[in-house]
Amino acid sequence: MNYHKYETVIVGAGGAGLMAALYASRGSDTAVISKLYPVRSHTGAAQGGIGAALGNMEEDHPEWHAYDTVKGSDYLADQDAVEMMTSMAPGIVIELEHMGLPFDRTPDGKIAQRRFGGHTNNITGKPVMRACHAADRTGHMILQTLYQQCIKQGVTFFDEYQVMDLLINEGRVAGVVAYEIATGELHVFHAKNVLFATGGWGRVWKITSNAISYTGDGAAIVLRKGLPLEDLEFFQFHPTGIYKMGILITEGVRGEGGVLINNEGERFMEKYAPTVKDLASRDVVSRAIYLEIKAGRGINGQPYVYLDVRPETVNKYFEKDGVLGPDGKPKRVTAEYLLKKLPDIIDFCKTYLGIDPMKEPIPVQPTAHYAMGGIPTTKFTEVIVAPDNTIMPGLYAAGETACVSVHGANRLGTNSLLDLVVFGKIAGQRMAEFARENDWVPLPKETWEPVQAELDRLLNNPGNENPYQIRAEMQEAMNDGVGVFRTEELMQQALDKIRELKERYKHIRVMDKGKRFNQDLLEAWEVGNLLDIAEATTVSALNRKESRGAHSRDDYPKRDDENWLKHTLIYREADGTFRIEYKPVVITKWQPKERVY
Ligand SMILES: Cc1cc2nc3c(=O)[nH]c(=O)nc-3n(C[C@H](O)[C@H](O)[C@H](O)COP(=O)(O)OP(=O)(O)OC[C@H]3O[C@@H](n4cnc5c(N)ncnc54)[C@H](O)[C@@H]3O)c2cc1C
Repeated sequence: MNYHKYETVIVGAGGAGLMAALYASRGSDTAVISKLYPVRSHTGAAQGGIGAALGNMEEDHPEWHAYDTVKGSDYLADQDAVEMMTSMAPGIVIELEHMGLPFDRTPDGKIAQRRFGGHTNNITGKPVMRACHAADRTGHMILQTLYQQCIKQGVTFFDEYQVMDLLINEGRVAGVVAYEIATGELHVFHAKNVLFATGGWGRVWKITSNAISYTGDGAAIVLRKGLPLEDLEFFQFHPTGIYKMGILITEGVRGEGGVLINNEGERFMEKYAPTVKDLASRDVVSRAIYLEIKAGRGINGQPYVYLDVRPETVNKYFEKDGVLGPDGKPKRVTAEYLLKKLPDIIDFCKTYLGIDPMKEPIPVQPTAHYAMGGIPTTKFTEVIVAPDNTIMPGLYAAGETACVSVHGANRLGTNSLLDLVVFGKIAGQRMAEFARENDWVPLPKETWEPVQAELDRLLNNPGNENPYQIRAEMQEAMNDGVGVFRTEELMQQALDKIRELKERYKHIRVMDKGKRFNQDLLEAWEVGNLLDIAEATTVSALNRKESRGAHSRDDYPKRDDENWLKHTLIYREADGTFRIEYKPVVITKWQPKERVY
């Protein structure tokens, strides 16, 4: 057996994992394990920006950012954690700048900022420029910058190793078991600390902006260990995915002045959010698109609307809304300017749709985008196992797979990249400290054996079910039943379907029996993770009898603070049934009130 010993093991090399690695490796012997080559992590796909109230373009304050985040979360975020994140934001963005991140600049050389959904001037209620960006490749630049820093610092990487199990002994974390993709061999990593920074699980749905690798491995492993997951019912649908494909068109397009248009040529967000219009929070805009489609105002009767960022349209609405440029005159954009600010988006449209967004509007529909829920943690990234915040010593989670919760029932754009670097840094610092102060726990009796047994089962199953067919049926069921609008009946149908698919999954057949780069085997294993998360998500969603943020039920259309201002913790029992407990929401300054945009 391949055996390794590191004080700190970080699973995942996206923004959260790399930031944690930078800090953890300064104070402890650290290894990063990643199923992807690090710079292929989904963080690299992030486009629009990272939020920080630098106030470089106009007045702004971390406290405004905190309030917007809490309001955007539909009051489910834990406000102490939100205040910590938004107050750390300006410093951490400047830290990234000093690492060499090539942000766009203002004419006087400061970091440039743009508008984004739900970020406002708290006095006027109008959109504020808070999103720091490097064109529309902000995540790519963050990932490259952090990776370069890790290499410079000599961090140890195990690239293309897939973690399949977490080892626990004496109530503490003892390590992980990983599969080496190139050879098919198992490796046991003995550790004092383990951080899960494994990203999200948008691949549970059919129309998604998420990478193929977004299969929720870390969260599924945690659930199977009998530990809880928090607030899974809140999954964000981003309003603007390319029609039918789901590929993301950043909110930065609307930040730069793009507008949503229905079949009647109407800018319909004026009706739904009179103050911020197209820059309302994502849950609000996604619902508005569905309502327009339902009312027969989709383009040519089809289930999509237009996102119009042609310079003449942008300038028309800037003038109408009274948006002023730095010279105090109505702001105007040119195709040249937009090409500089949104190069990749314009390129995607040409490549995938064959259209030039400077000349034609872009067909869009909501796309499954971001997990607000996940592995529950304290605001210091320690994983909790019970509603009273009891922690599992040595276990940490950060990034999209974690639920702190700073995003509550709906995340604001730009707040995920911020979450990665803030909580990645805290995780790294905490783990170095934990490694210093704590002894090793011995490995449990069984380490790699259960993983080998599961792989053998997948490889040698006599059944003939096709894992890709099961995945496709799950994605269809989840899109129909647990999407933007939900009802008891639709969710129950989805749950019945998932349970049927879980039965069929027991009889799947993996065609490739080889050892080297057996993608067939790994994807089959990942389908198991997706099914577990889909089931837990649907059970959590059926249980929450109210509408809040991204969880919108036709049969319970109102937010119900009296009964539901609380976080869900879902546990899977050994017999496969679920148990739900609740954790109170931390409120510091902002009592829940009605959200008006
Ligand atoms: C298209 C798109 C655009 C976005 N734009 C923005 C934006 O502009 N602003 C913003 O704030 N947010 C944005 N987001 C959200 C944000 O980018 C993600 O939430 C965030 O990057 C996730 O980072 P992470 O570090 O948690 O995970 P990732 O960057 O996804 O990294 C996950 C890592 O875990 C590893 N991993 C996973 N499973 C295993 C396993 N079993 N074993 C070993 N390793 C494993 C992977 O190899 C990878 O290295 C966007 C998301 C998408 C999809």
